[in-house]
Amino acid sequence: MNIESYIRVTPDFPKPGIIFRDFTPLLANGPAFGALIDQLKARYAENSIDVVVGVEARGFVLASALAYALGAGTVLVRKEGKLPHETHAQEYELEYGSSVLEISKDAFTEGQRILVVDDVLATGGTIGATLKLIQQNFSVSIEELLFLIELDDLSGREKLPDLPIHSVFHY
Ligand code: 5GP
Repeated sequence: MNIESYIRVTPDFPKPGIIFRDFTPLLANGPAFGALIDQLKARYAENSIDVVVGVEARGFVLASALAYALGAGTVLVRKEGKLPHETHAQEYELEYGSSVLEISKDAFTEGQRILVVDDVLATGGTIGATLKLIQQNFSVSIEELLFLIELDDLSGREKLPDLPIHSVFHY
């Protein structure tokens, strides 16, 4: 099963000059999506993960499927104004624009072992804000940062705190 062949490249989306890596064809193919989640389940089988954190919106899809496979819960890091309970908020810069991310104040209990998942590591702004939200407000153990795709030229990982990072595919 060549999972990578289901990642489509779309030039000039959402703006001219951006080469967008689109994994929706991978999600749409049952055997490919299953093979990806099985591979990740095997990677974290011994980590006793309590919660898989997903970043809006494509991170949710990976986080929830992996959480189910690991017998873990899922916590959603959402764009501003979407979470109904009291939240912590963090502003961040995107590859294209800026925004605010939020997490519920009751997202974790102390000492939980978590994975943080997004589809793409580009400049690192999104995951950097997510890590601030978690590390400044909760006492949890971040076991790894997980991405389906890392865009190496943008050097996003150099801006992140010293945590293990795993990206399934590099471009
Ligand atoms: P960063 O904050 O690291 O610059 O950008 C990462 C965020 O932007 C991710 O949440 C991801 O969804 C989105 N993103 C940036 N570039 C791409 C891309 O080429 N493909 C996809 N699917 N998402 C991207």
